[in-house]
Amino acid sequence: MLPVKDCTGCGACSHICPKNCINMVADNNGFLYPQINNDKCVNCSLCEKTCPVLNKHEQKSITSVNCYAAKVNNDGIRHNSSSGGVFSVIAEKVLKNNGIVYGAAFDENFVVKHIGISSIDDLDLLRRSKYVQSDLNNAFSLVESNLKEGKTVLFTGTPCQIEGLIAYLKKPYDNLTTVDFICHGVPAPDVWEEYKKQLKAKHKAEITKVNFRDKSLGWKNFSLRVEFHNGNVYCNTFKNDPYMKAFLINLDLRNSCYTCKFKNIIHKSDITVADFWGIDKIEPSIDDDKGLSLLLLNTDKGKVLITETENNLTLTEIDIEKTFPYNPCIIKPSVEHNFRQYFLNSYTKDDFGNVVDSCLKPSYITRLKRKALQIKNGDI
Ligand SMILES: Cc1cc2nc3c(=O)[nH]c(=O)nc-3n(C[C@H](O)[C@H](O)[C@H](O)COP(=O)(O)OP(=O)(O)OC[C@H]3O[C@@H](n4cnc5c(N)ncnc54)[C@H](O)[C@@H]3O)c2cc1C
Ligand code: SF4
Ligand code: SF4
Ligand code: SF4
Repeated sequence: MLPVKDCTGCGACSHICPKNCINMVADNNGFLYPQINNDKCVNCSLCEKTCPVLNKHEQKSITSVNCYAAKVNNDGIRHNSSSGGVFSVIAEKVLKNNGIVYGAAFDENFVVKHIGISSIDDLDLLRRSKYVQSDLNNAFSLVESNLKEGKTVLFTGTPCQIEGLIAYLKKPYDNLTTVDFICHGVPAPDVWEEYKKQLKAKHKAEITKVNFRDKSLGWKNFSLRVEFHNGNVYCNTFKNDPYMKAFLINLDLRNSCYTCKFKNIIHKSDITVADFWGIDKIEPSIDDDKGLSLLLLNTDKGKVLITETENNLTLTEIDIEKTFPYNPCIIKPSVEHNFRQYFLNSYTKDDFGNVVDSCLKPSYITRLKRKALQIKNGDI
């Protein structure tokens, strides 16, 4: 069986099990892991044969990937997207052809879950990055039913979610297109729950809206913006907001993100999108700080789809290797922060910002507490 530290929580094993004896169960931080009911298991090994991590094969050549800087020609959609809005252009094309688009959305409590939509009116639910691991629920089974009914499906998610879906489906479908992104890693759902709880307590009101990618101070200086029922608004840049700091210094990512097996330059998805960080150095003339996507076309299907939508996009071809210094997650996993275990043990016990700051500049007492925790956990 796959070591727990490498499991991405994609759920492919759970969906494929013929005896229905694998449940996805949350750990102390809300990350889902498979749990086998040994009384029902018939040792058929289908779960192991399906797991995309256990069956990972390296891919090397990058010559077949087309790399572009891309932006949607509609300024409103670009403003409301994380980077250049390429996802919206692809999704609109699929929805106009009566297809179904799957992606990560907030539910009414701002928990992040994968949903399927079939109307352009619902597209904004999927727009913008949500920096929390999304719960896939039964999305893989729903996608399979849609595909077998002959519907056109666009499935979007992290590279490990895409590979989980492809492994689960077992065979290629002409009517399926997949889009993933360059992935820094996914924060723990329970860390997000705690941060929301502390924000609600400070503002004495329920949350009505969350935007992790508010561009009012520019794309490169994006903010987390949270609106409350009493009219209060919290807005803080990614450099200053404690939740975004914890994410970006790698305090709360899933274990598998630190050894991510999905860092191949050629992704299994048809299309990969990302923020085009570094465009101000690589091609400054096309940077207006309103958001630009890095667009990688990995398959012929991806290339055809972008050709069909190119009237709605502005594309500039770029040498992919120029992007690596500015977006390290393209080629290597995020590095685990030395105080991650301490953080995960402490974030509910004090003010969230104080705990993050204590990990950034640890005092003598914090160092001692961390050492005691390491001894307790048997890490040293
Ligand atoms: C957790 C996470 C880490 C990322 N790390 C990097 C990085 O290191 N470098 C980089 O350049 N870009 C990264 N991105 C991608 C980037 O933030 C944008 O999503 C990308 O530039 C596409 O933007 P867009 O303007 O085309 O569309 P948008 O409208 O912003 O795209 C939204 C798409 O993202 C999907 N999505 C949103 N949140 C999640 C989630 N939690 N899980 C799965 N899918 C989700 C939606 O389903 C939808 O398909 C990351 C995104 C996420 C969610
Ligand atoms: S070995 Fe077969 S029956 Fe047992 S958990 Fe895996 S898929 Fe299910
Ligand atoms: S199939 Fe997915 S959820 Fe199951 S063990 Fe492998 S990575 Fe984990
Ligand atoms: S960093 Fe790797 S393991 Fe983590 S969510 Fe992204 S693709 Fe999955």
